[in-house]
Amino acid sequence: MILRPEFVKYIPKQLDDSVLYVSMHFGTVVHRCACGCGEEVVTPLGPAEWSLAYDGRSISLAPSVGNWNFRCRSHYWIEEGRVRWAHGFSEDEIALVRQEARERRMGYYQTKRSGRTWGFPRTDDERGLKWSFWKIFRALGRIWRRGKE
Ligand SMILES: [Zn+2]
Repeated sequence: MILRPEFVKYIPKQLDDSVLYVSMHFGTVVHRCACGCGEEVVTPLGPAEWSLAYDGRSISLAPSVGNWNFRCRSHYWIEEGRVRWAHGFSEDEIALVRQEARERRMGYYQTKRSGRTWGFPRTDDERGLKWSFWKIFRALGRIWRRGKE
């Protein structure tokens, strides 16, 4: 099965089975499940989600498309417009893949949050605190030595 790319702004209401609808405007890709069940598969593009490669003719999506929420539970890769089927996943494997995706997303947002807001100031505060402790310590040392002289 080959999925032909179609670049659109809005995803049409009626989807063609053999088309991969790409909306750069909304940063998302939509297609009908490759198994033929008719379900709509939405793969949002983003650093913690899907990424797209376009060679001028066909599209590849990464990572794979796992439709765990559909009855068909199909799992496949889209490589250069071709659907490459993965083996049927067991319940355990599905749980694992889902957890990995969740952790990846969590990791991404945590890095983003710490880097942008409190990550750097906190380090400065800690350094400042250590520095003032050191000053007090040295001052106490001087007082103690003076006392002995
Ligand atoms: Zn399906």
